Amino acid sequence: MRGYVEITLNEFKKEIEDEMGFNCINANKGAFSDRGGFANEYIFERVIKHETPEDMMKALAGDGFRYAIRVYSSIDRNTNKTRDTGTDAIRVTLYDLKKDRPVKVEKRVNRTENALSNMRIRAREMWQYVANDKNTCPLCQSMLVKRTAKRSKKDFLGCSDFPNCKHTQNI
Ligand SMILES: [Zn+2]
Repeated sequence: MRGYVEITLNEFKKEIEDEMGFNCINANKGAFSDRGGFANEYIFERVIKHETPEDMMKALAGDGFRYAIRVYSSIDRNTNKTRDTGTDAIRVTLYDLKKDRPVKVEKRVNRTENALSNMRIRAREMWQYVANDKNTCPLCQSMLVKRTAKRSKKDFLGCSDFPNCKHTQNI
């Protein structure tokens, strides 16, 4: 893989826990094997807390903060390092804590030289996505996500709580 750089678990944790304020919520489960050997999937989470007093009141009135950023990374069991396999990117995702499922907004970070700083940028983008009112469904306050119409192949924004909410709008 072009430009692959090995990251140790300690380096990874130092960045994501100490610098970025994430908590490790899974380090053992989800162990899997592939041609590269055995690996554990690590999941790190940071709940998105709102910054305006209005948002804070909304969160307190409802059942807490709704979205979290989750970062997934596989770590080789034997070496405690990330691995050089083709599909083994770091995944930065948005998670709906209320619905207990991911929102389909995912960004992949390849393990190249700038992987850790790229991961930080992607996490910041997730945060901004949630903070931007334009990405909130006007009917049910869920996140809007980009979808593609089956026939016309045109992109549009749809509610992430589909099929419970059928709101769509043009991009
Ligand atoms: Zn909606």
